[in-house]
Amino acid sequence: METNARSATELLATQVQFLKGVGPQRAPLLERLGLRTARDVLFYFPRAYQDLTDLRKIEDLEEGKVVTVLGRVDDVDTRSTGRGRTMLGVLIADSTGVLRALWFNLPFMAEKFRPDQQVLFSGKVQRHGGYWQMTHPRVEWIDEEEEAAGRMLPVYSLTEGLGQGQLRRITAATVESFADVLEESFSDEYMQEHQLWPIRQAIAAIHFPTDRTSLDAARRRFVYQELFILQLALSVKRRQLRDHHKAPPLPISAKIDARIRRLFPFELTVGQRTAINEVAADMAHGYPMNRLLQGDVGTGKTVVAVYAMLLAVAHGYQAVLMAPTEVLARQHDSTLRRLLAESQVRRGMLTGAITVSQRRDLLKDIAAGQMDIVIGTQAMLEEDVEFAKLGLIVIDEQHKFGVRQRAALKRAGLDPHYLVMTATPIPRTMLMSAFGDLDVSILSEAPPGRQPVHTYLATTEQRAKWWDFFRKKLREGRQGYVITPLVDENETRQSSSLSAAYESLANGELEAFRLGLVHGRMTTGEKEAAMEAFRRGETQVLVATTVVEVGVDVPNATLMTIEGAEWFGLSQLHQLRGRISRGSHPGYCCVFTERENEDVRERLQAFVDTTDGFKLAEIDYELRGPGDLLGTKQHGMPAMWIADLKRDSPVLEEARRDALALVERDPGIALPEHARLRKQMISRYGRVWDLGDVG
Ligand code: ADP
Ligand code: MG
Repeated sequence: METNARSATELLATQVQFLKGVGPQRAPLLERLGLRTARDVLFYFPRAYQDLTDLRKIEDLEEGKVVTVLGRVDDVDTRSTGRGRTMLGVLIADSTGVLRALWFNLPFMAEKFRPDQQVLFSGKVQRHGGYWQMTHPRVEWIDEEEEAAGRMLPVYSLTEGLGQGQLRRITAATVESFADVLEESFSDEYMQEHQLWPIRQAIAAIHFPTDRTSLDAARRRFVYQELFILQLALSVKRRQLRDHHKAPPLPISAKIDARIRRLFPFELTVGQRTAINEVAADMAHGYPMNRLLQGDVGTGKTVVAVYAMLLAVAHGYQAVLMAPTEVLARQHDSTLRRLLAESQVRRGMLTGAITVSQRRDLLKDIAAGQMDIVIGTQAMLEEDVEFAKLGLIVIDEQHKFGVRQRAALKRAGLDPHYLVMTATPIPRTMLMSAFGDLDVSILSEAPPGRQPVHTYLATTEQRAKWWDFFRKKLREGRQGYVITPLVDENETRQSSSLSAAYESLANGELEAFRLGLVHGRMTTGEKEAAMEAFRRGETQVLVATTVVEVGVDVPNATLMTIEGAEWFGLSQLHQLRGRISRGSHPGYCCVFTERENEDVRERLQAFVDTTDGFKLAEIDYELRGPGDLLGTKQHGMPAMWIADLKRDSPVLEEARRDALALVERDPGIALPEHARLRKQMISRYGRVWDLGDVG
């Protein structure tokens, strides 16, 4: 067994130069594709397939149908059609008739055809002058030695000097000699139960499937394996947190619950109550909570955070609340100030905006355990803040931090509990991959009495009308935002384009009103002053970049104009819109775009038509990918080799269930029959996710 395994590994490590059909000349070409060993070639999967299982005979063609026809080249004919224009006609024949393909102004195409060569034309056929004809069809050149009809041929990514036919032959020979050496990661029973093809069969079929069905089965095998390994790593990580980390148990009691609830001036929503119960149950454990609280803007996540913090404080532990920006940290601070007005809880704020001596005193109090709740920004992550008894860390709008950064706060000894909150609705497939090691609570409904936001996509002609309306509402006492995009990375240009927008509003549409300005280049103090003036109603309109995107809470603000809306993701637009759905008056949001482009209009129309943040996030994810959705490229989504997280989401669910079940049975993935799976998991995710001490 042992020697077998070793020789299998050695065999699969055979260098490409020694593979049939390669040799020293071609080996460098393969290496350019990243193929060094027989194993590499086996796992170099086709990027597409030529489907020759559904060919049409020429005598069976029908007018206007899109079909694929296999034939041999009969005649190649280039003629000039005047004024430097050319027409290329290629006649092919099968046993039942002839078909002509036409290309205009592509004279070099002629050189690609040799008489009697097998080719495949795909396109729409039309009857013309007694011929069947295709204009600019897709062409595939079929290798002489290949028995083409009735099969699916692999199409590989190539490099210059290496032909499709050559690589196909090399792969075929490699599959023939080496596929049987591959070792299976799953037991026979497992594969049977989960409908997985054995690896040897799957490798052969993924390169040379006999039909769609066998291709799908082969692909499923590899997709499942990839997703299963991912889920295994995530499950192990969760499990490790439980088994190897200790946190203080902070259980709830009726007395504590009553004391905390008394502070809230409103009834909790059903969602808030459920989330609070989930959080409290987690915090009662002797291992760290690791929970994500997801809730659309305005669903009241802060209340859940405050509850959790007070639970920690009730047990004599400290709690930290981190916000992505100073503005939000201050807002949280003032929320807490209001809620805790009657209580003994000691609260401090640690941001870049305090003086050196304030900071020194604060750090001292924190270290001495004389501070219960500390509010701050992510700058806290970089410093060595020492806590006397840290019980809980709440991270607001966590995606802005990059997923993995939260690890930086971990300390030796007792770990705190973690609660991370996000208003970006994360599609389920992403939750199961990038965030798969977290437990999830969801707030789905907003507190009662919320007004809807009416959203419009306006044309340039409707501009004047919108501003009329905007002014009317301002005169009724409402407030509003004007949002301009961060069109470019250059901050100087940004702020100047924003200032220009501000000037033009101040001297034009909003001449009669009090305007404020906020942008990323202002100092914290300037920003805070502008926000505060707006909050107090001293300014009626805030002209801003996306600084107001997350969390800012001014209930009287019900108007929003968004310029250059095409620059924003749908989720981002939704977050912005969330700023004006906070009070008892209905909100009005109008988006403008300079781009008269169909795609842009369609995307913005989706924003207008959909109030469901989850749906918008899904659309965003479809259109722009995960990086954009989370507003950062450090989104922690693992790159997949064959699986497509969207298309394969049912397999993802399946793999997740199966992996959880396996970890339940074998927490350290230590059983001998799991040795191969364990090895794959460690080599793929061990370092990234710090799984080294597994088992
Ligand atoms: P987000 O989930 O966007 O962070 P917040 O926590 O800022 O939402 O809450 C939005 C607003 O709703 C705040 O003004 C808050 O006071 C209010 N709120 C929260 N929960 C309730 C509730 N149960 N009933 C009424 N208002 C609530
Ligand atoms: Mg919030």
